[in-house]
Amino acid sequence: MKNSAITIKHLKKIYAGGFQALKNISLDVPKGAFFGLLGPNGAGKSTIIGILCSLINKTAGSVEIYGHDIDKDWSEAKKNLGIVPQEFNFNIFEPCLQIITNQAGYYGVPYPVAKQRAEHLLKELGLWDKRYTPSGKLSGGMKRRLMIARALVHQPKILILDEPTAGVDISLRRSMWTFLEKQNKNGLTIILTTHYLEEAEQLCETIAIIDKGIIIENMNKVDLLKKMKCETFILTTEADCIGLPQIDNASLIKNNDGDIEVVVNDALSITKLISDLEKQNIIVKRIQNKSSRLEELFVRMVES
Ligand code: ADP
Repeated sequence: MKNSAITIKHLKKIYAGGFQALKNISLDVPKGAFFGLLGPNGAGKSTIIGILCSLINKTAGSVEIYGHDIDKDWSEAKKNLGIVPQEFNFNIFEPCLQIITNQAGYYGVPYPVAKQRAEHLLKELGLWDKRYTPSGKLSGGMKRRLMIARALVHQPKILILDEPTAGVDISLRRSMWTFLEKQNKNGLTIILTTHYLEEAEQLCETIAIIDKGIIIENMNKVDLLKKMKCETFILTTEADCIGLPQIDNASLIKNNDGDIEVVVNDALSITKLISDLEKQNIIVKRIQNKSSRLEELFVRMVES
């Protein structure tokens, strides 16, 4: 398809031993999308990514990357891909700058251009001070950023990140989000797998959920979140309340901290909930979601 960055049709994977990890997966990732592939452990995410990168052989189906079929035209398809795998796979003795320029060399980028791009990327990702440091001496978060720089140096149109912020602390995670959002605004198609659902909720405009080798959802995040029939909130009240009132379309329990945990059906507005509580002399001081909304929906979908 013309506007597709990636088109996957009827993809199946049966591993040696007979286990079927992917059962007839079809997916279309539009150009310029920020696409989240979510699913519990063992769902098949890494298998899909492995097939996209040609590290895993598919059993059946087809994959096109920017219109290039990976079976017929792998060398053209691969030019469009930048991959950030889950595991660090650098030569630990090689300095950062050299890792990036060497990678560019594999894609035929002339050295002076590669050096310029490497400088730009390492500066953007806060690694310029470390350019002569062997990669093995970097912290986990720095290694992750180095993998992103390495994946982008040949200027691919698609960046695939497998669990990009696993083990990365919160402030660094946020700066990586900002970097990725900027790249996406500049036209880069980004596909990520993550099990931080807050990350997917923040970044991805389209989300596919895979479970046991089957795509169970694939839609715009806004529409996906609209599927939530109920949402759980934590209410902190002004005074500790004794006994909880009955409120239509809500179920309330008191948690161990004395806060009220309330599951609210979408027929009940938050304004009405708070005013109903006020009528019972329960004053709500603070209200927060129990988890990210996507996380709540995900848990319900995958467990049902
Ligand atoms: P995810 O990335 O969503 O955690 P994977 O794609 O790694 O899931 O795995 C999907 C399923 O395929 C799992 O049940 C896993 O045990 C199985 N699997 C993965 N790799 C192999 C392999 N090389 N041989 C046999 N089974 C495998």
